[in-house]
Amino acid sequence: MEIDAAILKSKGFFQQAQKDKFSLRLCMSGGTADTGYLKKAVEIADNYGGGRLHFTTRQQIEIPDIPAENVEAVQKLLSDAGIKTFIGGPRVRTVVSCLGAAVCKFGQIETGALAKEIHDIYFGRELPAKLKIAVTGCKNNCARVEANDIGVRGVGHGYQFYFGGCFGHEPRIGKPFLPVLAKKEQVLSVIACTVRFFENNAAKGERLGKLIDRVGADVFQKAIEAAV
Ligand code: SF4
Repeated sequence: MEIDAAILKSKGFFQQAQKDKFSLRLCMSGGTADTGYLKKAVEIADNYGGGRLHFTTRQQIEIPDIPAENVEAVQKLLSDAGIKTFIGGPRVRTVVSCLGAAVCKFGQIETGALAKEIHDIYFGRELPAKLKIAVTGCKNNCARVEANDIGVRGVGHGYQFYFGGCFGHEPRIGKPFLPVLAKKEQVLSVIACTVRFFENNAAKGERLGKLIDRVGADVFQKAIEAAV
């Protein structure tokens, strides 16, 4: 059987170390899924994979050990169930969040619905490089927002941004370039402005933190201040 690993990867099936097997990454925002979604993931793992699930560090569900000959059947099942798969590469990635004020007693802001709103607007948008976004409810920072290109943290019922963080082989900590914002609309406006700035100015493969270094923090700050 002919396998085009690059095409399958673009559809969420990642070729494993065992070349005839694939690990399917599903798409979720905010790390929360209803039980019907999880049951479908279990059904795929039991019937087409190796009977196990993996939870990634960015809150995605991965189903390993799917033999190449089962991929087509899994794709049909996903399509019938309306389940989307993860998209990697130079794009806006799935938005990570903690449970926030809707559940957690420490939460200063609601996080899950905000993460979903951001995800629904931007997930999969093509950019010069990957762009990772996280939302966390309070200073405990369970979603580790400073390790993301754009991070939002609840502070005194307002929103504190962090820009330019990343992990991987060259980790860097995101920095706040704005005061604490009071309204969710301001948050969405700043994210829209940051994505535009990134889209218009970044070189291929250049993450936001490196772009800020190259153009100057003052230039970036002025651009995003205009969005508030
Ligand atoms: S960051 Fe704060 S609000 Fe979010 S889960 Fe952790 S303790 Fe709760």
